[in-house]
Amino acid sequence: MPHGPGFAARSDVGSTRTGNEDRFLARPPLFAVADGMGGHQAGEVASELAISLLDETADRSPVLGTDSLVDALERSNAAIRREARLRADLAGMGTTCTVAVLDGEIHIAHVGDSRAYRFRAARLEQLTDDHSLVASMVREGRMDPAAAMTDGRRNIITRALGAEDQVRVDVVSADLAPGDRLLLCSDGLHGQVDDAAIATVLRDEPDPARAVDRLIGLANAAGGEDNVTVIVIDPDMMADAASPAVAVALAVDDDQQESADTAKRTDDSPIPARRPRRAIALFLLLVIAAIAVAIAGWLLAAAISPT
Ligand code: MG
Repeated sequence: MPHGPGFAARSDVGSTRTGNEDRFLARPPLFAVADGMGGHQAGEVASELAISLLDETADRSPVLGTDSLVDALERSNAAIRREARLRADLAGMGTTCTVAVLDGEIHIAHVGDSRAYRFRAARLEQLTDDHSLVASMVREGRMDPAAAMTDGRRNIITRALGAEDQVRVDVVSADLAPGDRLLLCSDGLHGQVDDAAIATVLRDEPDPARAVDRLIGLANAAGGEDNVTVIVIDPDMMADAASPAVAVALAVDDDQQESADTAKRTDDSPIPARRPRRAIALFLLLVIAAIAVAIAGWLLAAAISPT
């Protein structure tokens, strides 16, 4: 399971499907879930295309804003359409995509019925609107939210990457407070497990990897009718992630420190391993200079004072 300080992600085939058409990306501060659809393996081609394009976008520009996320999803839409035209076996393929980037807030670009939630003060808040038939009926007051979970039309989505030449991408930003947790998931979770049960796991299980396992376990226990993908993020813990790296860099000797510094730079990580030691040296030099000036001043004063 891909995980690191403050996040964990996993995708599971579920209990009834033979293949997994869900894909995800977990490369902090960028996270995404894509749920592919189409005959045979077409769905996984579509979700794979969307996720790899996001990955490439992050390679080119480590600092991503909402505009570049929307742009990436629009390019995915075009790429999926192009592939589907070229290969008959991929005709009609599509994918949902919910992508989030964290920069002290959360910014989301979203198409389809995968979801992003914020868990705050023991309450689960859905940040994205599902682009699905039953969700629009719920929004219009024509269907009860509980009925939507079991309605036979719940798999019909109204927007997807690959569905039409132009795709409308939702953009959502939300603030983050200390203690907030984030959840990204495909409908294999939220279609099987209600919000109250999801909230209980997020409240009771502080470790993101174990929370992911428990949520996938609940989806499968409830029937596991679909592929299920879950990403749990603790933004507080991610902010702390830089500290251990600095501590390690300072603890090693100069040669190792040099190589750690180089390794980090190729990693695009902005941790200046050598700078703290240089700052300490500069401080010591200033203290010595100040003492020297004080002694000289005292000697001069003693020399010129009348005795
Ligand atoms: Mg699904």
